[in-house]
This record gives sequence, structure tokens and C-alpha cells, in this order.
Amino acid sequence: MTEAKKPTDSAAKPAAEPEPLPVHETPRGNVMVIAEHIMGELQPVTIELLGAGRLLTDKLGTQLIAVLIGYKMEETVQKLIHHGADKVYYADDESLQVYCTLTYRRVIVDLLESLPEPPHVCLLGSTTTGRDLAPRIAAHFETGLTADCTELDIGPYEHKSKVDPTKLGLYPDCLYAIRPSFGESLKARILGPWKNPQMATTRPGVMTPLKPDTKRSAEVIKIPVKLLDKDSRLKVRDVVREVSKGVKLTEADVIVSGGFGMQAPDGFKLLEQLAACFENSAIGASRKVVDLGWIPYAHQVGQTGKTVRPKLYIACGISGAIQHRVGMSKSGTIIAINKDPDAPIFKFAHYGIVGDAYLIVPELIRQFKQTMSSQKKTEVEAVVHSH
Ligand SMILES: Cc1cc2nc3c(=O)[nH]c(=O)nc-3n(C[C@H](O)[C@H](O)[C@H](O)COP(=O)(O)OP(=O)(O)OC[C@H]3O[C@@H](n4cnc5c(N)ncnc54)[C@H](O)[C@@H]3O)c2cc1C
Repeated sequence: MTEAKKPTDSAAKPAAEPEPLPVHETPRGNVMVIAEHIMGELQPVTIELLGAGRLLTDKLGTQLIAVLIGYKMEETVQKLIHHGADKVYYADDESLQVYCTLTYRRVIVDLLESLPEPPHVCLLGSTTTGRDLAPRIAAHFETGLTADCTELDIGPYEHKSKVDPTKLGLYPDCLYAIRPSFGESLKARILGPWKNPQMATTRPGVMTPLKPDTKRSAEVIKIPVKLLDKDSRLKVRDVVREVSKGVKLTEADVIVSGGFGMQAPDGFKLLEQLAACFENSAIGASRKVVDLGWIPYAHQVGQTGKTVRPKLYIACGISGAIQHRVGMSKSGTIIAINKDPDAPIFKFAHYGIVGDAYLIVPELIRQFKQTMSSQKKTEVEAVVHSH
């Protein structure tokens, strides 16, 4: 006699439906941009942040808020409104004329604590000031912060990791803070929807500003300034501005940039001659040569340097590491000169010249000069291979 098989559980009842994820719905808050100025001069990154912030508020259906801390900056308040702010919180006090970590932090923390709801998103520039201030605000509110973003978005996110069961679930309006990941040609999407404000800093020159509209008007709310004694522990005695010669890197139409392949600081003299063939040109550099002291930091292009968008970028003896690429990949035309045909830069340059920069650059200078003197459009006779 054979024993009748017990029906298996799966035969007895259909597979259980997966439990729906809990939804962590919080009220959609505003997007806040912390304005940056140097001695009263509004920094372009603020205008760019307002452009990026506008896209986020349009998705959230909320308001774009600017926070301005300074002294006698009424004109700047208007500038913020013309560039997209729906409301400006303005702290106006003589003690706030110059940026100082502790005083500015105090004003922002007090403001955020006084609001009925925290902002959904809070944005600062990836500048010396923004990098100093943003972590202090994030640490105070025990919220996340993603530095050096190149893209921002709002969207839903399903958190399925069971490491912390309280976090499991759907977050409908999560900030997608997107930035290049270290050492690889990858974009990392960094999310931290657990707590508002979700914070990010973005690099100067990356986000697109809105066209100013001088007809826009908005509410301006003066913030009371109540500094504590301990906020005055740090005093800025003097602000010394570095005087840079020539065209600013971020405003140049043509950048001739040099890397370790130039072999010595003197190599940059050759690059200066090439740059001089163009109007509105400037010299750029990789971090490696800046670290070596071949050229000042003001010339560094890349993740920890400047983000540039010239019409033409000529990279000489630069390998094309991701940290360099993120600072110049939006250039109109990229020409790379490198003696290694497998150098990573050839993967994203529009034109590549394989060879020794010490032979190619003088030839380019000679041909550009000849072109200029004859006023003819001469093609550069170099071994060019398009990738
Ligand atoms: C956190 C972090 C942040 C960073 N931030 C930045 C940044 O902002 N900007 C930045 O640039 N880097 C940055 N870096 C460094 C980056 O990873 C690279 O190390 C750096 O960009 C390499 O510089 P390079 O291309 O000049 O030198 P190398 O990588 O050494 O490349 C030199 C190139 O020159 C070529 N070459 C040699 N001789 C000649 C010749 N005679 N003619 C033509 N070509 C020649 C070689 O084939 C090689 O490709 C950062 C790194 C980290 C970890």
C-alpha cells in the first residue's frame, strides 16, 4: 500500500501576494537655495542653483525660496527674484557683511527651525563657502548631504533593503542627487529621503540658469539676526582677493590645458603661445600638475577645480581621468593631444592627435599663425583621428 501524498502547500493555496510596501508620504515642501556672495558680489552659482531649483519645484508643485545673508544687499534680493525666487528670506546685518562659518550657520539654522515645515530640498554651491557651510547645516538637522552634484531630479524611490525595517517602503518625492563616482566613468544616484531637507551642493558652471525676468516680484521676509557670543569666536580680519592675470577660466572661449605629459613647468610656456593664437583664451591644467606646483590652483579644471564650458578645449598631455573629465566634458569641441593612443581622453574627445605634445603644439602654433597672417582658413595638417 502506498501512502497518499500529502498535498504540498503550494498546491493547496496560491502563492501569497507580496506585501505592498508602506508609503512614506510627507507633505511636499519648498526648495531652498542658500545664496552665496563674496563681499556683496552675488556668485553665479546661486543663479544656476535657482535654475536647477525651479525644475525641482515645478515637479513638486511648491515654491522656490532663496536665503540671502549679508548687509545692504537690496539689489541682490531683486536679482534673486528676477532669476526665479518665489520668496526671499533676507538677513541684513553689518556683522554678516563677510561670510563667516559660525554666524551664517546660526542664521540658517534659526531660520529653518522657525519654519512650520522644513524645506523639501536645500541647495548650496560646491564652492569653498558652500562646502564649508552645507555639512554644518546637514549635521545640525541630522540629514543627508550629497556634494558636487552634476544633475538633480525629483522622483519616486522604492527602498527594499531590510537592513533597517523602519526605512522600508516607497518614497514618492525623493531627491535624486547625481554625481560622478570616484575613479569610474559612472554616474552615482545618491538618495536620502529619510529626512527633509534633502541636501545637495552643485558645481559652479553645471546647472542652467533661468533668463532674468525683471517683471517678476516676490515676497521678501527679513530674518531676525540673533547671534550668540559663541558665534563670534571666529572673526574674519581681512579678505584678500587673488588677482589673476588674463581671461577667467570660466569665461574663456578657448582653453588650452596642460597635464603631466607636459613634463615640466616650462611646458606651460609653450601652451601659453598656443593660447595666444586665439582671442579670449585661457590656460587650464590637471590636478596632478597643480599638486606638483607647476601652475596655480586657479587654473585647475575638474572635480576639485573649475567646471568649464569653452567653445574649444585643447588638452595637452592629459590622460582624461574622470575627475578631469567632469570639469570639461561640456566643452563645445575637445581636441586631445597625447602620445598614448589608448589614453582615456580619446574616448570622449571630438578629435585626437596621437603624438608628442612637444612636436605637435609648435606645429599647431606655426599653422595657426600662418592661417592668421594669410587670413585663410587652412586646415591643420596633423595626424587627426576622430574617435
Ligand atoms: C578626489 C579626487 C579629486 C580629483 N580632482 C581632480 C580635478 O579636479 N582635476 C584633475 O585634473 N584631476 C583630479 N584628480 C586627479 C585625477 O584622478 C588624475 O590623477 C589627474 O587628472 C591626472 O592628471 P594628468 O592627466 O595630468 O596626468 P597623468 O594621468 O599622469 O597623464 C599624463 C598623460 O600625458 C601623456 N603624455 C606623456 N608624455 C606626453 C607627451 N610628451 N606628449 C603628449 N602626451 C604625453 C601620457 O600618455 C598620459 O596620458 C582628482 C583625484 C581625486 C582622487
